[in-house]
Amino acid sequence: MQTTDVCIIGAGPAGATLSHFLSKQNIAHLLLDKSAFPRDKVCGDGITVDVLNVLKRISPALQEKFVGEAGMLPSWGFCFHASNGRELRYDFSRGGFKYAPFFTSRRLHLDDFLVRNLPEGSGTFIQNARVTSLSRDTGGVEVQYRTPSGEAQVRAKLVVGAEGEKPIVTRHLGLPHYREKRHLIGALRVYYKNVQGFHEGNHLEFFFDKKLLPGYFWAFPLSENEANVGLGMVSSEISKRKVNLKKALEEIIKTHPRISSMFAEAEPMETPQGWGLPIITPEREIAGERYALIGDAAGMIEPFTGKGIGPGMMSARICAEYIQEALEKKAYNLKPYEAHMYRYYKSEIKAGYRLQKTLKYPLMLNAVVGLSNLGPFKRWSHQKMVREWNKWM
Ligand SMILES: Cc1cc2nc3c(=O)[nH]c(=O)nc-3n(C[C@H](O)[C@H](O)[C@H](O)COP(=O)(O)OP(=O)(O)OC[C@H]3O[C@@H](n4cnc5c(N)ncnc54)[C@H](O)[C@@H]3O)c2cc1C
Repeated sequence: MQTTDVCIIGAGPAGATLSHFLSKQNIAHLLLDKSAFPRDKVCGDGITVDVLNVLKRISPALQEKFVGEAGMLPSWGFCFHASNGRELRYDFSRGGFKYAPFFTSRRLHLDDFLVRNLPEGSGTFIQNARVTSLSRDTGGVEVQYRTPSGEAQVRAKLVVGAEGEKPIVTRHLGLPHYREKRHLIGALRVYYKNVQGFHEGNHLEFFFDKKLLPGYFWAFPLSENEANVGLGMVSSEISKRKVNLKKALEEIIKTHPRISSMFAEAEPMETPQGWGLPIITPEREIAGERYALIGDAAGMIEPFTGKGIGPGMMSARICAEYIQEALEKKAYNLKPYEAHMYRYYKSEIKAGYRLQKTLKYPLMLNAVVGLSNLGPFKRWSHQKMVREWNKWM
């Protein structure tokens, strides 16, 4: 049987990032993904500054390559549109940043970029390799997978679940699976062509309309005159309010004054694609004896915006430190990684859930947008973001 130090299941942003770090640390590992790349993943395709940070930590050359990659569209700001029509827009084009703080890219390209640039060395990446089961004993973890040429298995000292929203590691290791509706966002994505009226700096546009709250609609410009469009809402509210997301999406595009004008000439390029976003909660167990979960498999999504690519990559970066320590000390319990992650995201978790709650109250949300637009507040928050993000680049 094949043996290795670490078996990573899933080569999305989280799994591929972990492979980059383990290669840097010269740790033997196997990265398995059921798909052949490039492959699509339903997402908003908004890439945040934490992604740039992790890329730089992998190597400044990789960060440079990313920003120069065809199809990565620099986005210089974002805008929250309140239900009373007021806008809270942040434009960072004169912020003194080295690069734009956001990018957009179809996940087809982003995820392919990450695996295409995996270094040769201590890692092996196998595509078209679907993990079918795994079992743990005192000496390690055995992983069964299926490729077009047949069944195979690998024995590893540690296993990392990076398989995204539909968990396999959790299931096979018999871990509790917190698929509670209040910790899951339901969302739809549609690629469009020819959406008009984006800001010249390719800003990410978020719309909080009364009819949609506590959900929101987004329209993110992509390269080649395409756009990623969608809406999402916490699943417990979808059930409670019996919301049909597909109908809600059609309706807002037709009836919202600003959105309908942006979509006057637009054409959908696909039917709406649905997917779940597991949001971060310290109630979830994400590490233990011989295993760790990263990215969506660990429910690493920020509760308010639905941002998960950056946190997924960051969880991989942090996990790599504990993997190295575990292998050096021959002590294979990765629980300290879990404590580190929840400490790292403590303030984001708190703020995210608080903001998520305001979405239930349109008047409160209007007031927050109004207050945040006042000169001194706006300058303060703008400068705070510039200061923090500059450190990250
Ligand atoms: C509609 C929507 C909009 C979103 N918008 C944004 C956004 O704009 N910005 C943002 O930052 N985040 C966004 N997110 C969240 C983001 O998409 C996820 O957080 C991110 O994809 C997590 O990356 P990951 O590597 O953990 O998992 P994934 O990207 O899901 O990758 C998991 C990988 O595991 C593989 N896999 C699964 N099962 C197996 C198996 N049995 N064997 C082998 N391989 C397997 C899959 O093929 C896949 O390649 C959005 C999510 C949704 C649903």
